Amino acid sequence: MREIETIATRIETSAQEIFAMVRAAQRNGETVGLVPTMGALHKGHLSLVDRSVAECDKTVVSIFVNPTQFAPNEDLKSYPRALDRDVSLLQERGCWLVFAPAVEEVYRAGHDTTIDVGSVAKPWEGAARPTHFPGVATVVLKLFLMVPADRAYFGQKDYQQSLVVRQLVADLNVPIEIHVCPIVREPDGLAMSSRNAYLSAEERSQACLLWQSLKLAESLYIEGETDVATIKQAMVRLLGSIGDIRVDYIAFLGEGTVRPVETIAGPTIVAIAAHVGRTRLIDNHRIG
Ligand code: AMP
Repeated sequence: MREIETIATRIETSAQEIFAMVRAAQRNGETVGLVPTMGALHKGHLSLVDRSVAECDKTVVSIFVNPTQFAPNEDLKSYPRALDRDVSLLQERGCWLVFAPAVEEVYRAGHDTTIDVGSVAKPWEGAARPTHFPGVATVVLKLFLMVPADRAYFGQKDYQQSLVVRQLVADLNVPIEIHVCPIVREPDGLAMSSRNAYLSAEERSQACLLWQSLKLAESLYIEGETDVATIKQAMVRLLGSIGDIRVDYIAFLGEGTVRPVETIAGPTIVAIAAHVGRTRLIDNHRIG
């Protein structure tokens, strides 16, 4: 049993230093878990940290708002940042190291390499945000090289991202085990997200319709409906019923893939992206 209370979480900003510390722990026979985040931590992030702390001897949480995964018109500047609060939450959870590098530490002057993951990164989020997954894949690989952990923890909330990371790790022989953890939700079902902070009180109360639409899909399926077009129609009707929700896509995907299905015949991920006011939210739910 590790003595969580006695561990003082240390903040490290140097890639060289963190690499050396992780390697030293591993030489000592300890396993290291990595939880990559952009900070402004909530219970969804902390569930990944708890998993890593439970499964690994030492846990590193990276906090880095990665500029290359934001398009020029997106919210890089306004993205919530709360390093002090994040570190004290991580201290309570028994995190060993917080890796919080400056942008220049990750992207040195002259940086000119981008990782282009293939077909799994192209539709859905990839189509809506064409520069997003190249930015994610590049920073994830860089984090894996700077923090050579044994395991890394990601959230099912970003379903397609988890597939992109798995593809990257398999294709480039990255020696790290990927673990994907369940979505943590607010009491009304809204998936926790740092971007929920952008919602006005009225938008926040409408945002739970995303979850309600996913639950509607599930209950229609349980009642015997397997036709995706019929279920989608009902979801769109519900989402259009009140407020200011603009659906970007609703996709029914074979589990573990980004391929759409027309009939639910097995485990299926229902993925949704929608704007609530000016905030773009994503969510998903497994049915079937
Ligand atoms: P982010 O800080 O948004 O880049 O997220 C960091 C990690 O936390 C990613 O692997 C996300 O999928 C995961 N994550 C974000 N929100 C949730 C949530 N509500 N439940 C579980 N994991 C989450």
